Amino acid sequence: MRSALSASFLSLSSFKLPDRVHRFVCPLAAFALCLSSCKRNEPAGEATPAPAPAEATPQPTTPAPSIPPAPSTPVAVVATPAPAPHNPPPAEIWKEFSGPKAFEHVTKQVEIGPRPSGTQEAEKARALITEALKAAGWDVERQEFTDDTPRGKIAFVNLIARFSASGAHPAPADAQQVILCSHYDTKRFSTIRFVGASDGASSTGALMEMARVLALDPAFAAKFELVFFDGEEAIQQFTDTDGLWGSRYYAKSLNASGRARQFKQAILWDMIGDKDLTITLSPDSPLALAKGIFSAAEALGVRQNFGYYGREILDDHRPLGKDAHVPAIDLIDFDYIYWHTADDTLDKLSPDSLQKVGAVTLYYLKHEFGNK
Ligand SMILES: [Zn+2]
Repeated sequence: MRSALSASFLSLSSFKLPDRVHRFVCPLAAFALCLSSCKRNEPAGEATPAPAPAEATPQPTTPAPSIPPAPSTPVAVVATPAPAPHNPPPAEIWKEFSGPKAFEHVTKQVEIGPRPSGTQEAEKARALITEALKAAGWDVERQEFTDDTPRGKIAFVNLIARFSASGAHPAPADAQQVILCSHYDTKRFSTIRFVGASDGASSTGALMEMARVLALDPAFAAKFELVFFDGEEAIQQFTDTDGLWGSRYYAKSLNASGRARQFKQAILWDMIGDKDLTITLSPDSPLALAKGIFSAAEALGVRQNFGYYGREILDDHRPLGKDAHVPAIDLIDFDYIYWHTADDTLDKLSPDSLQKVGAVTLYYLKHEFGNK
């Protein structure tokens, strides 16, 4: 079933060359074909009627959590209500990753509705992410920028989270060694209501859960920079100048600040929620990273869920690797027939898939960076 569908997708690709083809690094001949015949592959045949534009129905942002009134008699003030870490930290931290908890975050992202860059809904997505990160004790930086897009100027916002091992805030920006990232925006469609359950929400919810788990071990958490990218999706169609808006800007900022040098690796999650989990690594993945991920999957008994894709995949890991020179891998399930359709909905997802990817990533990271 899967391989048949996959095969039909590939043969379709070679004729219609949908938008996603731009996410592959085509051989030269195919690339020339891309240039001449690529067109946006919105699923116009979908029965779902077009909804009102997402930005037409602004809603109030999530209110800040209420603060209890101050007592009348002075008491010792606790400055940061961060949760107490495990003492000692869990030795097998990958066992702490909860698929159901991640799935709760995914559900809340999807419930916002479509979340394209520059909309009120994208801001609501950020509010939920920020709230969860801060509740777990992370400092959150908003990296804001405006860029000229095929739809005019759009304001983008990356969220960058760092953890302070010492308790001093804001956390220093020179201690991180590994970037863990996801995009939270969803692709804008005019013909369908696209909520991006796997494409946008799954990896975002899982990374929010990752923040909670890492915080159980402050010294370990301080080694990571969590980045939630805006604007992964092309505004119209993928080209060198459309798509990957947030990751291109972030990579540029790493170079400009000189921070690119401090990072040894980057792991990107994208589309990791499919019930039928098939992580499809791009063939150009850094070998050491791919080996480490496969070994972790083997150790946790889920090796059958991890393999390679037939062609190279262009995603947010690319600017990190090519522009900032940080070895970067994309854990993505691109064998997902609901990709960029109105059917990329919660019922296609499983908490178990989030659990597998979360645990494998943590197992790898703990063995690679836990004692350094
Ligand atoms: Zn997408």
